[in-house]
Amino acid sequence: MAYDNDNIFAKILRGEIPNTTVYEDENILAFNDISPRTPIHVLVIPKRPYVDMDDFVINGTPEEVSNFYAKVVEITHQLGLKEDGYRLVANTGKNSGQLVPHFHIHIMSGRQLGEAGMTAGMKGIDS
Ligand code: AMP
Repeated sequence: MAYDNDNIFAKILRGEIPNTTVYEDENILAFNDISPRTPIHVLVIPKRPYVDMDDFVINGTPEEVSNFYAKVVEITHQLGLKEDGYRLVANTGKNSGQLVPHFHIHIMSGRQLGEAGMTAGMKGIDS
């Protein structure tokens, strides 16, 4: 799938739509989900245009990919989640129901989460 420059996260990256930034550097932006399903619900995105995780891991450089995931873990530490834990979700492809076609990782925490994918809710990630 070709990257859509008009997707909502592209607009956030261009500063056309506001966001509540949690972390930012030259490669990565992390911000609060506008519709949080858990007390802590942060989205982490690369600034370069990748449609989904498959596109990112296949077409990103090894350095870019490893740096991204290292930063995701660093952000969980900054959010104070190391001790109690958290869930990461990357909806990818048709069956996932991915809504925004710019690769993003959901960091979800702040309460006890149910077994992933086994109950109703936002694609099973918030139960
Ligand atoms: P996904 O289904 O994995 O594509 O998730 C997209 C996420 O983006 C959803 O959890 C939305 O609540 C979130 N979202 C949509 N628009 C915004 C926005 N303007 N700012 C922050 N989060 C957003």
